Amino acid sequence: MAEFDLIRGYFSTLTASRDDVLLGVGDDCALMNPPADRVLAMTQDTLIAGRHFLPATDAESVGHKALAVNLSDLAAMGAEPAWALLSLSLPEADGTWLNGFCRGFAALAGEHGVQLVGGDTCRGGLSITVQLTGFVEPGRALRRDGARPGDLICVTGTLGDAALALRRLLAGEPAGGLRTRLERPAPRVTEGRSLRNLASACIDLSDGLAADLGHICTGSNCAARVLVEKIPLSAEVAAFIEESADWQPVIAGGDDYELCFTVPPDRLAAAGSLPGVACIGEIVAGEGVGFIDRAGGRLPLPVPGYDHFAS
Ligand code: ADP
Ligand code: MG
Repeated sequence: MAEFDLIRGYFSTLTASRDDVLLGVGDDCALMNPPADRVLAMTQDTLIAGRHFLPATDAESVGHKALAVNLSDLAAMGAEPAWALLSLSLPEADGTWLNGFCRGFAALAGEHGVQLVGGDTCRGGLSITVQLTGFVEPGRALRRDGARPGDLICVTGTLGDAALALRRLLAGEPAGGLRTRLERPAPRVTEGRSLRNLASACIDLSDGLAADLGHICTGSNCAARVLVEKIPLSAEVAAFIEESADWQPVIAGGDDYELCFTVPPDRLAAAGSLPGVACIGEIVAGEGVGFIDRAGGRLPLPVPGYDHFAS
């Protein structure tokens, strides 16, 4: 398959057309007509086989996740997704793999109104980079630097599912229903949009609660105190902790793609009424993230979140 045929065959009409795209895949650049009354929010994430996903992961899940991790970044800013660029490095032009990848990518793009407008295709180790652009009202983006002492800390969904799934798969054990949480994360775009008037700070959980909440603390010059028994858990993760007393997957596991945000106390009722939101602690003066267990003791701080350049 020639490069041009591959692009035309798989990517030129993969997603539905948006009115604000003047020219999509096929020319030297895509041309867009951005809304006059919005700020653009731009993000990019790369998934490398063997580093960000298990090499045996099915192509449809890879296509889903490559877009999902970027949607999660827009969700964390309260932005509305719009345009994607896709840079693919492939060991070979494998039609079966490409079909699966495109199915996963297109299904999630369709759910969020995203149009694929361009990209790049080359031969090399399997690696996927997606660049995603969205819109947010001026001054309303959810940043990491707005948390203040007294704010409550909330999360969406349940934490630790993906990390426990990865741990089980690496051990050669079945991961059951947790596998979906690892391979097909559901980015919290709707929740992020709903938080625009409520949250004082927000981040998506990609590197684990300790590390990512730590970014809010650093950005906002404050500390966080989290009560671990308030962290929402799936039945599988709750059973795992019951058995092992090991909180690592929950506080240091990556790939949750849930939102962690802070709210001033007078807005907690509104935030708490959003479906699937739980309050897990509070922002205090100082620095760092502390995890308090049921008996009031401090859990040992987890090993830091994943760092590509840590020695
Ligand atoms: P150029 O050499 O001018 O950069 P390419 O030959 O790389 O262009 O790409 C041709 C067209 O196909 C461009 O519009 C580019 O954006 C698009 N394209 C290439 N690869 C992809 C991809 N993986 N997904 C979407 N669009 C792609
Ligand atoms: Mg060109």
